[in-house]
Amino acid sequence: MSSKNLKIALAGNPNSGKTTLFNALTGLKQKVGNYPGITVEKKTGKAILSEKVLAEIIDLPGTYSLFPKSMDEQVAQQTLCNNDNEDYPDVTVVIADATNLRRSIFLLTQIIDLNMEVVLALNMVDIATKKGIVVDVNLLSRELGIPVVAINARKGKGIVALKEIIIDSIDKKPKFPFLEVAKLFKGVIEQANKIRGVENNFASFMALCKQKLSGEIDNRCALNQLCKIEEIIPERAQAKETVKRYAQIDKVIKSTVKKGTPIGKYMLTKKIDDVLIHPIFGYVVFLSILFLLFQAVFSWSAYPMELIDELFTNLQQFTADSMPKGMLNDLVVNGILAGLGGIVIFVPQIAFLFAFIAFLEDTGYMARVSFITDKLLRGVGLNGRSIIPLLSGAACAVPAIMSARTISSWKERLITIMVTPLMSCSARLPVYTLIISLVIPADEFLGFNLQGLVMMAFYLIGFVSAIAIAFFMKFIIKSKERSYYIMEMPSYKIPDWKTVLYTIIEKVKVFLFDAGKIIIAISIVLWVLSSFAPGNKFEQIEQKWAGIENAEIQISADKLEHSYAGIIGKSIEPAIKPLGFDWKIGISLLTSFAAREVFVGTMSTIYSVGDDDIRSIQKRLADVKRQDGEKFFTPAVGISLMLFYAFAMQCMSTLAIVYRETNHIKWPIIQFLYMGVMAYLSSFIAFQLLS
Ligand code: GDP
Ligand code: MG
Repeated sequence: MSSKNLKIALAGNPNSGKTTLFNALTGLKQKVGNYPGITVEKKTGKAILSEKVLAEIIDLPGTYSLFPKSMDEQVAQQTLCNNDNEDYPDVTVVIADATNLRRSIFLLTQIIDLNMEVVLALNMVDIATKKGIVVDVNLLSRELGIPVVAINARKGKGIVALKEIIIDSIDKKPKFPFLEVAKLFKGVIEQANKIRGVENNFASFMALCKQKLSGEIDNRCALNQLCKIEEIIPERAQAKETVKRYAQIDKVIKSTVKKGTPIGKYMLTKKIDDVLIHPIFGYVVFLSILFLLFQAVFSWSAYPMELIDELFTNLQQFTADSMPKGMLNDLVVNGILAGLGGIVIFVPQIAFLFAFIAFLEDTGYMARVSFITDKLLRGVGLNGRSIIPLLSGAACAVPAIMSARTISSWKERLITIMVTPLMSCSARLPVYTLIISLVIPADEFLGFNLQGLVMMAFYLIGFVSAIAIAFFMKFIIKSKERSYYIMEMPSYKIPDWKTVLYTIIEKVKVFLFDAGKIIIAISIVLWVLSSFAPGNKFEQIEQKWAGIENAEIQISADKLEHSYAGIIGKSIEPAIKPLGFDWKIGISLLTSFAAREVFVGTMSTIYSVGDDDIRSIQKRLADVKRQDGEKFFTPAVGISLMLFYAFAMQCMSTLAIVYRETNHIKWPIIQFLYMGVMAYLSSFIAFQLLS
């Protein structure tokens, strides 16, 4: 009898053990190359299945589903779905991770539905046993209608049995389809079968969903026409298929998988997880960690921030004194150095925040946080991975938006980027501090410090509005892709300090250099606006004050009032009057475009305070009177102003980063507009209600 040359494909999720099994089957008889034209690795090898049967084995790239989302998945799908492909298998072996059967057999059940010769190799059974997971192999085989073998690819156990079963499966189709896709779409699949001239429901379904299968090109038009007539939207049809398939899989898992008590380190992991991903305690722990995190980030970074502040003040003073007086001196000191100081001051907070995030990530805890928050966040259009950018947004939206890269779904990533700036970042802190100390009495309320409560309320407002807007955007942003969250739960481990350190350095660098450039540029533009006036206005001001001693502070205030910035501030006064603001606040709104905390410095200049110390400014502002003699800064004005800063997109660097990360000018513009509208409306309502 001549030896038969079989083609066997190994398919399965990434990390299920395909390559390990491939090595066990082929030994040294393997060939590694690339698929033509792309950089996806192609591994083939020869295996002796029995005395008479020699097989060519192909190790397919990791795949979750036959509807490919990546280059790797596309290669695997093309091999399995096209019987004219040179690698089209006689028998497919799907390798499943027994510790995560639900996810692992999704692909398998689709292959069953294609009516291909397929065998399930249940791998990682050793780990499953330690985790207390027991799979009833015989029952699973009956429920799926295909052969199932338990193996340990690493130790080479079960390989002999697998080889026998592969030989046995030649020309043996699955006993029944797993999911009756024809029943989900009444009559449509049959029509598609007719068009394609093939009796294969799932293949026809895939073809309807625009997947490339053998001979598809000839039928494309007719299939598109069919979709149109039957109102089949491929993305929705596919989403429906996914949901139904998982429901069916869950039934099978329920009857075939028993969960018992894990042993050893898995017991420990499970015990910790019983608490950390518990539906109630999980959140309690998470919120406590969050609380600690914020305490630490704010109190620890206060010292280095003060140091940096002092350093830059001295540097500015030194430069101002040592350079010849004039325009250039002013540009360097108040344009460039001021801008630089405004950037560097954020470094400590960013460093501490990312230290924490990297630490939580590296211990394995972040995966649990993503896991418990995923369901909640998914409901509002975000996903478990969004928790990282959202939290980082409490320090600064710029690096936070960059950290949204780990979200694989474009829609969820975009929504995360769009709402992250609503989180109360540290630049709002000085504004809130100044205004709260100005308009909120230092009383106690239910035993809590009232000012502290108001501060907390504003953090909450940021968070709640971010969630609300995300929910809203979930419905208006269109997206073709669907996202199913694939969550790996790594075992807990002691963090690697190098990883933590690298994360900090990387984030600080990104912030300093990427955002830094833009901040400096804006800082210079704003400097021009506030340092120049039409005509010879400034000379007139200098003449007016000439001869009067110690008038520098008044001169600066006078100049700012008549500068271009002042002119803009005054011209927008009618628009911001209903919010309780005057032109002086108008100027500050404009200048805080550089960064929100510039508000404090501008107010200080306008009101001729002479220094940037919050207490001196607060004292001065408390005395400001309206024309009728009443205090200007009432709680109504204060709350209105804080709401404005809570919502308005007062940060050019964030907009620039959003532009870079979304690669479209449309998104930062939309963000600027929607946040502006929210700011205006909420300030308007608050002021009108409170005054
Ligand atoms: P692939 O991505 O599907 O090719 O997966 P690999 O073959 O690279 O395997 C991923 C990891 O799982 C490797 O570290 C293997 O050593 C390990 N592995 C594979 N099979 C088993 C098994 O049966 N038991 C255990 N404990 N580990 C396995
Ligand atoms: Mg591999």
